[in-house]
Amino acid sequence: MPLVTTPAVILHVMPYGETSKILRLLTRDLGLQSAIARGARRPRSPTGPRLDLFAFGTANLRVREHRELSPLTGFEITDAHAGIGHDMARFGAASALAELALKCAPAERHPAVFGAVAGGLRALAQARAEDVEAVGLAACWALVIALGFSPTLDRCAGCGAPLEAAGTLHFSAALGGGVCAAHRTGAGAINALGAADREALAALIAGLLPEPSLDGRHAAAHRRLLLAFIRHHLAEDRPLPAMVFWDREAWNATSS
Ligand SMILES: [Zn+2]
Repeated sequence: MPLVTTPAVILHVMPYGETSKILRLLTRDLGLQSAIARGARRPRSPTGPRLDLFAFGTANLRVREHRELSPLTGFEITDAHAGIGHDMARFGAASALAELALKCAPAERHPAVFGAVAGGLRALAQARAEDVEAVGLAACWALVIALGFSPTLDRCAGCGAPLEAAGTLHFSAALGGGVCAAHRTGAGAINALGAADREALAALIAGLLPEPSLDGRHAAAHRRLLLAFIRHHLAEDRPLPAMVFWDREAWNATSS
């Protein structure tokens, strides 16, 4: 059983038996992995009590071929990302990001996917309160793009024709980006993004925070657009409860 030491972030924690935990980890070197931390719920376990959701550190995994569950022999936590638990907006966004990674990240080395998730969680833990919405959106887009699905904003997603560089952008989540006049029909729901929303989306996709920052109403519109894009291109028919929760919850919708 080779012992692999790799940076990792905890995306799901489940109690197991009397004293253990089963973790879903996104690792840099092995991608998505399931691990069992035996004895982690014993009172005197050295790392067990800190094996919490969203914690980042260095995992030691005994990897066994053809086994789904690898024993976790150590996890040195370097950043618990405790800030994520401070308010529901951060927690909701982090849960949505984790859900997307759990459903879509490969079980093999993918540094870009790992970087997007680990970087997104760190940014959410540290974001100023007024930036949390935009940081969550930028983090999810970064993961979508790392997974290989980049929306097109300068060319029609249906035919490749260049789009006007300014003004309203007609966005089709089904086709995967902006669309020309000819492709506005038959492309599913179309979001007409005015200049400000178009600039904000371009910023988020580039990993930047929109300027001026998004108010509650605009953040909600951007979450809906992101969710529609993910549904069409990544989720297939799998449910996305954390993402739907993030999209719908009242702490978001009432802040405009
Ligand atoms: Zn077109």
